[in-house]
Amino acid sequence: MSTDRKTEVILGLPVDQLSYEEILSDLPIYKTAGKQMRLTSVNPQILLHASKYPEVCEYVKKSTHRLPDGIGVVLVSKLTTGTITDRITGYDLMLQLLAYADRHHNRIFLYGAHPDVLKKTVEQISRDYPHIEIVGHIDGYHEAGEAEVVEQINLAHPDFLFVALGFPKQELFLSRNWEKLTVPVIEDVGGSFDVIGGAVKRAPDFFIKSHLEWAYRSFSSPKRFKRAFELPVFLVKALWVHFFRFLKDKGARDSE
Ligand code: UDP
Repeated sequence: MSTDRKTEVILGLPVDQLSYEEILSDLPIYKTAGKQMRLTSVNPQILLHASKYPEVCEYVKKSTHRLPDGIGVVLVSKLTTGTITDRITGYDLMLQLLAYADRHHNRIFLYGAHPDVLKKTVEQISRDYPHIEIVGHIDGYHEAGEAEVVEQINLAHPDFLFVALGFPKQELFLSRNWEKLTVPVIEDVGGSFDVIGGAVKRAPDFFIKSHLEWAYRSFSSPKRFKRAFELPVFLVKALWVHFFRFLKDKGARDSE
């Protein structure tokens, strides 16, 4: 449990400076301490829209690891003399957690996505990670109420819970239920099941390496097209808020 972790506030929400290694090394430490790990992606979409959902903001604040998910977050940090240098994507972290769970013969539960995508995700994970026990899965379009979902998850005793309902559904579900969930590690993973289950292709390596995955995904899906415009809006808004706060603080200092 890193005590010297640096946290920055972007558009009112905390984002942690983290590395994949640090998160993985926290797993046994949290386990020994009997503390739940809540890994939450903080991407430009959440930072732009979370203020409409106070529960989502609360959940991000109460999460143990707030992932700097997206090049936009890294850029804002750099331009405001922050210290976040690397992004942690929810999808890549999920793969690292799956590899860890495979090495440790852990149990996982999958919640979210369309039933056929979920089925393919279960099959793919079973093929790629033969030592993982998938102890349950519920699709994201089921009729069951939240209490029933929580009960099913708890009864299955997973070590890891991956929630793939997209923003803001997954954060809202977790904000209402994280205290009832007896799962040691919870990650919200957005559209990751779509990628693992093969419904959506990940961007080619060139786009990932050039930090342009967001552009590839936005322009290759009509549903995501408007997201292409969210990144510049996010950058301008985050920098403006930072600059405004700087001017306000300077004004207060000058008048002392
Ligand atoms: N989803 C779901 N139930 C819903 C709405 C969405 O299970 O009521 C799933 C959807 O099928 C997809 C995932 O949530 O697998 C994430 O969707 P999106 O691509 O919007 O999220 P992002 O990757 O941008 O976070």
